[in-house]
Amino acid sequence: MATSPKTPVYLDYQATTPMDERVLGAMMPYLTTKFGNPHSSTHRFGWEAEAALDVARGQVASLIGAQENEIYFTSGATETNNLVLKGVMDVWGKKRPELITVATEHKCVLESAAACARAGYKVTVLPVKADGLLDLNRLEDAVSEQTALVSVMAVNNEIGVIQPLKEIGAIVKAKGALFHSDAAQGYGKIPLDVEALGLDFMSISGHKIYGPKGVGALYKRTGRQTALTPQIVGGGQEDGIRAGTQAPALVAGLGAAASLCADGMQQEAGRLQAMMARFKDKLFTALPGLILNGDAEKRWQGNLNVSFPGLDGDLLLASIRPLAVSSGAACASAVTGSSYVLEALGRSEDESNSALRIGIGRFTTDEEIDFAADTLIGAVEKLGGLVP
Ligand SMILES: *Cc1c(COP(=O)(O)O)cnc(C)c1O
Repeated sequence: MATSPKTPVYLDYQATTPMDERVLGAMMPYLTTKFGNPHSSTHRFGWEAEAALDVARGQVASLIGAQENEIYFTSGATETNNLVLKGVMDVWGKKRPELITVATEHKCVLESAAACARAGYKVTVLPVKADGLLDLNRLEDAVSEQTALVSVMAVNNEIGVIQPLKEIGAIVKAKGALFHSDAAQGYGKIPLDVEALGLDFMSISGHKIYGPKGVGALYKRTGRQTALTPQIVGGGQEDGIRAGTQAPALVAGLGAAASLCADGMQQEAGRLQAMMARFKDKLFTALPGLILNGDAEKRWQGNLNVSFPGLDGDLLLASIRPLAVSSGAACASAVTGSSYVLEALGRSEDESNSALRIGIGRFTTDEEIDFAADTLIGAVEKLGGLVP
């Protein structure tokens, strides 16, 4: 076995990312001396806090080809997703009563869609193919003049697949519907241009891109067509779209995190792809019975979701304590133990229960990757190997 890194080794970058220390540097002034309320327009304390929001708005916007005034700060992608789905249906649902989304979306999208259904709107949840990607023919059949909004995520948080947003956008636009993407796992990692993709709304999260937790953003295309009902009302902040005093430190952190992603996006993706290729090669050579979940190519290479047929996922997790990874059912309830995402791919109960999600990122090293592969392979062999 190679030299051992410090353990536990963090391999759960889809759950959250460690904050980049340069992000903390950008936040510090607003946690200390520059403590003003950005809404205070009569003195310097307010102005410097407001200026921090302006800078961050520009940083967040520039990554996706948006205008500064199309970015609204929220507490995270969960809040943004709630705002878009509920807010759009509230405005447009009388004319066009249908919302379309996908079975493998994050729970906060599916739960927001369920709330729309309870409010009386028609909600259509499309299935995915065995590779985790949306079937474009199914989408084409589903979208109509009755559809107000189509919501499809950019990168899946459990299995890493990248949905074909450009093709989806073209289908949605042809029917005059609005198009939203939960890009919590894609923003800052892969190129996403709101014009090229035909996006009207996008959800962004700070803590998935080496920024702080508790902050996120909404991209909302300018214009009357994208009107939505605010879900939090009060003092009119964020143009009335999201009331409540903004958190300049968190927002400055989000902006800095976005700007760091922009600077090194291609290099970082390349580095992670090489590292993941090496990891996969080791694993699949030693354990040929492994099953990759999600398309092998159309995926964010910082994610690997694999099933270990014949093994119990919890037992496997318990025997790899030096590795901080998550079970395939990362976001499912502890009671059922299986993942609705893997079920949507048509995986068997055994395949779903034996799945692990491994996520690498900016601070992962080759040493950690080799250690992780050796640890996993050793644990599987100790547990009796995979069932062919
Ligand atoms: C993490 C995540 C969210 C939730 O984001 P928060 O900022 O933690 O609320 C939503 N969607 C996806 C795909 C995510 O990965």
